[in-house]
Amino acid sequence: MSIQKDLSIGVDLGGTKILTVLINQNGDIIGRAEMETKPMEGETAVFRRILHSINKVLIETSIQKARLRGIGVASAGIIDSNEKTVLEAGNLGWKNVPIGKLLEDHLSIPVALSNDANAAAVGEWLWGSGKGHNHLIYITVSTGVGSGIISNGKLVNGVDDSAGEFGHISIDYNGQRCSCGNRGCLENLISGTAIANAAKYRLSQGEESHYLRGINQTKITAKVVGEAALAGDSFSREILKEAGFFLGVGVTNLIHLFNPDVIVFGGSVMNVSEFILPQVMQTVRERGIKSLTKTIKMEKSNLGGNAGVMGAAGLLLLQDPRVKISV
Ligand SMILES: [Zn+2]
Repeated sequence: MSIQKDLSIGVDLGGTKILTVLINQNGDIIGRAEMETKPMEGETAVFRRILHSINKVLIETSIQKARLRGIGVASAGIIDSNEKTVLEAGNLGWKNVPIGKLLEDHLSIPVALSNDANAAAVGEWLWGSGKGHNHLIYITVSTGVGSGIISNGKLVNGVDDSAGEFGHISIDYNGQRCSCGNRGCLENLISGTAIANAAKYRLSQGEESHYLRGINQTKITAKVVGEAALAGDSFSREILKEAGFFLGVGVTNLIHLFNPDVIVFGGSVMNVSEFILPQVMQTVRERGIKSLTKTIKMEKSNLGGNAGVMGAAGLLLLQDPRVKISV
């Protein structure tokens, strides 16, 4: 009798840590391992650590490799999912690393590779806030801004696997030049870095914040602004509200393009979504075409930091024709 391949491994390959989970088809996390990436030690060392984390999860849960449907890897950067290669990832210092093929050759099981925002979209679609919705957009706001788009029950990849660069749509067409070459990109207006910069700039212009007044300017981050907002600081709440407005302008464009039924918001900046999402919703209501916006749902990610790693594991389910995803 053949062993049922009912489990998958997801690996979230970040610049700081490698998070690995073993999950079943219901999205229950059965095993988990976390270790530092240490990308400065080179790609071979990182590859060994990924292998080690996979083995660790299997050993700790006493699960045989034969039960694995496969391994999904989510990585930041530019990915070629067909070739299972990280073309460029600044946080890892990688160029043209065929990480998926290396794992496949080494472990002799199927491996899928995706960028982290797309993987998170798959995670939220299969098991999270977007469960059951085949027209879903996942938006992540943290150091950077990105998105993953599920349209008609399929992940939208684009010809170069680069669709969904939501952080680089121009919101302020005459705005500041962005590293991508465009001007006034959303990322420059709402990312964690942008939120911190906005707070610092407004303080330097003499605006008052009871909470931030005593803090050294170099210590002001989006996290600190969020903490201040939670403590009742109206200055910080205003900064987050403004980010919510810009995000709402971008989200309205996305709704008009893709006509989704749910938008899921994740990323560290969304830890204080209560100060951002109401403004996003108001902007969408004011600016959006009513027939497209009247029933749209906007939800905070309920998988949080697990969305990417779970979605990476979920990539294997999408590729398995025996598994019915659509509802
Ligand atoms: Zn840009």
